[in-house]
Amino acid sequence: MKNILNFINGEYVASERQFDKKSPLTGAAIATVHEADKAQVDAAVSAARAALDGPWGQMSVAERVERLHAVADGINQRFDEFLAAECADTGKPMSLARHIDIPRGAANFKVFADIVKNVPTEFFETATPDGRGAINYGYRAPIGVVGVICPWNLPLLLMTWKVGPALACGNTVVVKPSEETPQTAALLGEVMNAAGIPPGVYNVVHGFGPGSAGEFVTTHPGVDAITFTGETRTGEAIMKAAAHGARPVSLEMGGKNAAIVFADCDFDAAIEGTLRSAFVNCGQVCLGTERVYVERPIFDKFVAALKLGAEGMKVGLPDDAATSMGPLISKEHQEKVLSYYQLAVEEGATVITGGGVPDMGADYAGGAWVQPTIWTGLSESARVVKEEIFGPCCHISPFDSEEEVLAKANDNVYGLATAIWTRDLARAHRTAQRMKVGLAWVNSWFLRDLRTPFGGSKQSGIGREGGVHSLEFYTDMKNVCIKL
Ligand code: NAD
Repeated sequence: MKNILNFINGEYVASERQFDKKSPLTGAAIATVHEADKAQVDAAVSAARAALDGPWGQMSVAERVERLHAVADGINQRFDEFLAAECADTGKPMSLARHIDIPRGAANFKVFADIVKNVPTEFFETATPDGRGAINYGYRAPIGVVGVICPWNLPLLLMTWKVGPALACGNTVVVKPSEETPQTAALLGEVMNAAGIPPGVYNVVHGFGPGSAGEFVTTHPGVDAITFTGETRTGEAIMKAAAHGARPVSLEMGGKNAAIVFADCDFDAAIEGTLRSAFVNCGQVCLGTERVYVERPIFDKFVAALKLGAEGMKVGLPDDAATSMGPLISKEHQEKVLSYYQLAVEEGATVITGGGVPDMGADYAGGAWVQPTIWTGLSESARVVKEEIFGPCCHISPFDSEEEVLAKANDNVYGLATAIWTRDLARAHRTAQRMKVGLAWVNSWFLRDLRTPFGGSKQSGIGREGGVHSLEFYTDMKNVCIKL
């Protein structure tokens, strides 16, 4: 069994308390994780402060950029180790992590380093009564020690999405990875050391939320800002913690995303995109589609084609190249998803496909497997249509007009993402702009340019990260006014 340690001030540190990390494939323990106590979180925050005031804070932007490029290169040099660690923790197909999680995890360091290197601030000349004038310029200072609280669905990618810009802007971080996925965050410590990132810049403390490392980080007075990705309920708790000391938060939270499929769409593309958005990563993508609205003339054809696609997906092991979907993250999450499968039936759904647990054989009976599932026939008020399930499932319902579908799609407490499928350009713009979401895709899904803003509306988030928008959160913009 692997031993997963905390990474504090450039060194791996054991804890008195430990917990088991279990394989999503079998339910068996695969690692012992060291749970940081309060004193270790204190040590991590102190190390981060010292690095901020010391070598990292004093380093030139050019040198910081160079070292962050070395971090990206270091991840790529140890690609297979990161891949194995990520797939062991999550059970996701290697084919997926090889193309998304690991390369994008590395890219986050390069992209944000280059943005910081190239983005200017502002400058104004100001008239003064003595005629000599003044000049004003904007200066971006680091925000300080940043607490980074991460989820388990895309562990390395979503963690570096925050750590990349935070470090590029000159901050230092204390990362609390999900208790379900501790491995890649820990491994990154070795890469940081090898890349010449000074001790204390990147710290990792393992553990849970309440009463554990998550709470210790977010309530720590030495943490200047908190960036979080995870469930909306957790985000609320973190916002309360951040209120003490009026510290800024960036929150990327849950979703119950709608796809809107118009009858004039490219049908095959809409099916392919919806299959991915509903089922990739076993449905555990915040941007994933759990509600599909299809214009009535193509409704039956769409349901039949999506069913065919879902039934053609192979639920399997990470290293099998034919696998399109792995298990859910844990038995606990499997229980939650299966409770919604049960609820859908109770609420009167027609089960088009799935609805249960696939037979994976005796060796994998303890794993967190579920079938890709499609329902129709539920009312808009059904809990299955309203609440985030975070599993490989979607409900499909017909619509007759643009107004009707916009009203239905927007009638949700979340507002993260949408995918709109149509060949009518005017309608594409109109519906994308009227959807109350942070991200609207037209004729695509999860097509990401890292320079663009990312985040959710309503209960899906506060703030935007990505490109220059990340600088808004990770820097403290000051105005320098000089009288001439
Ligand atoms: P979660 O909220 O259960 O946990 C996220 C992290 O918060 C974990 O590290 C956890 O230990 C920590 N945590 C829990 N309670 C805490 C507390 N009181 N104080 C401090 N830390 C605490 O989320 P999850 O189950 O890991 O991830 C799934 C959720 O994340 C889904 O709701 C999904 O939609 C959302 N998500 C959102 C985005 C986005 O960009 N909007 C991306 C990925 C996932």
